[in-house]
Amino acid sequence: MTIGSLQRFLMGAIALLLAYPTVAHAQFGEGAPPGSPGREIIHLTGDLYRFRDVRHYGMFLHTPEGIIVVDPTNPDTAAWLKGELDSRFDVPVRYVIYSHAHNDHAPGGAVFADTATFVGHENMAKNLMQPAAGAPLLPLEAHWDTNGNGSIEESEAPDAYANNFAEVDLDGNGSLSRREMWAPRFQGAPVPPPDIVYSDRMTISLGGKTVELHYTGINHTDGMTVPLFRDERFIYTVDHLTPKRLPRMTVDAGYAYLPDWLESLRRIDELDFDYVSPGHESVGTKADVSEQRRYMNDLVDAVSAAMDAGRTREEIVESVRLEQYSHLMEYELSIANNVRAVETMLRFVRER
Ligand SMILES: [Zn+2]
Repeated sequence: MTIGSLQRFLMGAIALLLAYPTVAHAQFGEGAPPGSPGREIIHLTGDLYRFRDVRHYGMFLHTPEGIIVVDPTNPDTAAWLKGELDSRFDVPVRYVIYSHAHNDHAPGGAVFADTATFVGHENMAKNLMQPAAGAPLLPLEAHWDTNGNGSIEESEAPDAYANNFAEVDLDGNGSLSRREMWAPRFQGAPVPPPDIVYSDRMTISLGGKTVELHYTGINHTDGMTVPLFRDERFIYTVDHLTPKRLPRMTVDAGYAYLPDWLESLRRIDELDFDYVSPGHESVGTKADVSEQRRYMNDLVDAVSAAMDAGRTREEIVESVRLEQYSHLMEYELSIANNVRAVETMLRFVRER
């Protein structure tokens, strides 16, 4: 190994560590393949760009009066981005828009705090707050709590927690509190809370350009914002709609996001856009939105039918394969996990 390749290897390893600050999160969240390039800015159209940190993508729109950034990602990426923006443009960042509160997309905006207003959905602001000690379980968590003691033992935990129980059980007392189940996804580098929250829809106007913020209901979390760059005909869909890839559905959000996710995708499909810039992977088109809708609807229908037929959870995981979607990225990685997640949520919805 040459010095240069060793340096690149170490830089890659450091970038991975920065992107995945906790072991638990790496297992819940998005993984980056070793050797991925680090950071870059990618021009989309007009004054609209996406920026990349390994496998995470945010966006920014340049206007004559300032810059609108979506998802600062993490402190090191935001510091790098600020340097890039300062060298390319002579206007400051005026707005930071949060897509959601997860700790691999939201942190880092403090570097823009002198000039920027922070905006997010009202539930995003709520999700940022560490639950109080002894806070009650969320509805889906309470459903797992079969012994009713207000916390989740390993035998009660779904795979998302059981597979790395010791890391999530921060106090090591053998059961997971609401606060401990919140931490893997939401605890991390500081996130300046939004200065402005909205509930349904909001429009940001700056330098003759506009960004619409749409809330389309519960999908990946209950606080997701879909920014729509109307003139540029782009939307940003972070973790809930990844073109040409299966979604990574988990049950660590504390509530069932089905069937709501289907309705959310329908509402996204109705927005007036041509292109999708996700928080992972490549830019897609409206056709990819339709394909994601078909996949999600077929997945829910198939699991639902198997449940109606009285199949066990493991029989359902084995039988629901949806091979017609095997051309999508991460099919082998995610199909079984997605079936498990859908089964868990539908069972909760049926039994509550
Ligand atoms: Zn997320």
